[in-house]
Amino acid sequence: MPAVVNQETCNGCGECVQACPLDAIKIENEKAHVDPDTCGDCGACVDVCPTQSITLS
Ligand code: SF4
Ligand code: SF4
Repeated sequence: MPAVVNQETCNGCGECVQACPLDAIKIENEKAHVDPDTCGDCGACVDVCPTQSITLS
């Protein structure tokens, strides 16, 4: 299942954007947003997020 970002705890740091091999994450309004159609469920973003804001639903 695609990655989902907790909008309450995401701080917009961009670490997940850098980690995503498929360029599925964008920062908008200082929050990360995952395109579920592009996400390949690899979990790389989950591992790098410093605030544990990303889960694979
Ligand atoms: S799970 Fe993988 S493909 Fe999906 S947004 Fe995270 S890093 Fe990108
Ligand atoms: S790595 Fe985590 S805190 Fe940083 S932008 Fe991505 S989801 Fe938000």
